[in-house]
Amino acid sequence: MGIVKLIFVVLLVFVGFYLLKKFRKLSGKMAQRPSTNKILACSVCNMHIPESEAIIQNGKVYCSKEHLK
Ligand SMILES: [Zn+2]
Repeated sequence: MGIVKLIFVVLLVFVGFYLLKKFRKLSGKMAQRPSTNKILACSVCNMHIPESEAIIQNGKVYCSKEHLK
């Protein structure tokens, strides 16, 4: 019975790792979302930043409040 139990445990670990890998790949894909997070360039220093972090005023893009002045 000992060897059967050992094989079962090893199999379980393999399946666990496989599922973890698959889940990580899936969640990584969801986190990236290239279409929803546009990259914009600051009109002062030309630094590229994601749209969610950018400050947009009067149709111009700024990377920080310092460049907004
Ligand atoms: Zn800037």
